[in-house]
Amino acid sequence: MNDRKLHPESLMMSYGYNPEWSEGAIKCPIFQTSTFVFKTAEEGKAFFEVAYGKREQRPNEKMGLIYSRINNPDLEILENRMTLWDDAEDCAVFESGMSAISTVMLEFLKPGDSILYSSPLYGGTEHLLQHVLTQFGINIIRFKTGQSREKIIDIVNESGHAASLKMIYIETPANPTNDLIDIACCTDIAQYYSTEAKTVYLAVDNTYFGPLWQHPLKHGADIVLYSATKYIGGHSDVIAGAVLGSSAIIKRIKTLRTFLGNMAGPWTGWLLLRSLETLKVRMETQAKNAKHVAEFLKNHPKIERVNYLGFLNESNPVQYKIFKKQCLSPGAMVSFDIIGGEKEAFMFLNNLKLIKLAVSLGSTESLAEHPATMTHVDIDEAEKVELGISPQLIRLSIGVEHYDDLIADIDQALECVKVKELETA
Ligand SMILES: *Cc1c(COP(=O)(O)O)cnc(C)c1O
Repeated sequence: MNDRKLHPESLMMSYGYNPEWSEGAIKCPIFQTSTFVFKTAEEGKAFFEVAYGKREQRPNEKMGLIYSRINNPDLEILENRMTLWDDAEDCAVFESGMSAISTVMLEFLKPGDSILYSSPLYGGTEHLLQHVLTQFGINIIRFKTGQSREKIIDIVNESGHAASLKMIYIETPANPTNDLIDIACCTDIAQYYSTEAKTVYLAVDNTYFGPLWQHPLKHGADIVLYSATKYIGGHSDVIAGAVLGSSAIIKRIKTLRTFLGNMAGPWTGWLLLRSLETLKVRMETQAKNAKHVAEFLKNHPKIERVNYLGFLNESNPVQYKIFKKQCLSPGAMVSFDIIGGEKEAFMFLNNLKLIKLAVSLGSTESLAEHPATMTHVDIDEAEKVELGISPQLIRLSIGVEHYDDLIADIDQALECVKVKELETA
């Protein structure tokens, strides 16, 4: 293969692992160990010098394993493989998406600093910002999806915190409405507020698009975050998180991780290594299925509106332009307004048979949930209306089942919904 650059999916089964290390085992074993034996005291001393930054790593010097809070083969190999999808210099994995997010914020924000973030965010992230970080003297500034560059700059300037702005944090596509935020535009805003004395970092939670359908680093973002619980893990059986970026940024994050102690364990690392082998086939099937499901929903008389990125076109030029610029697929998250309200939405959810009624997303099995009373219950009522999180909104995460079966399940559950307006019509 000489100098041929292989695609990530071709490397997911072997990259970074040598069977000679483990009696020829084709798969990386689970290194279920807390500590590692040094060959000599001198070797132990050398490993610590590098790990604790007492000196730089010498050319050709191999960094050894010390202790599983600092490094473990399952984590290191996983991190190396993860970098391939986003073409990142380095990666750090965590025991949850929330620990990845909180570690990034604690590393890059100090008392007196400010963070600008897009709304709506994942509920846990929003809580961390509003109720935890503010207690440590961090100022929060919010903007809403759909606001222009000029409007966002006005919001920052009017907040009185422009000088202390240190981070912009966004989620796109936004959950559950699939509204898009222009990543390159946020890069531009980060640069606008950066000075010689301070860099404003742009962090993007890319969970909704997995590492396949959007590559924020290519659009100028500094940090990409994932809840690996979702598409990366993909089987609803593990909680994990990941952060990617330049070597310098990930070095800072890994150092704080060592002292917070929230790295992923070897078992989690192994599960994710296994998941990565099928990431692309899963996500492609999920996206194909979502297209069929969305088209069925669009034509159904009991459905008022479908939020699916594959339906964007020139009639919504701003969103369509962002989609074409930064999204490689419409993905597999679909939400829709059923005609009626909470009662009708619940009737639909309670009658699903194949699709499971559960929060979370990105798994092999399809899931349905009610954002207004579940994932987004914390948002106040007026804002829910503004964000399009109505009582009749249902969110679907499409899995790898046969799409005909998914459509049949949705069809029969819709049959069970008695819509008043239709009956009287
Ligand atoms: C689930 C999720 C998180 C939190 O991840 P956990 O693995 O549950 O800690 C963060 N962001 C988004 C967009 C999510 O969907």
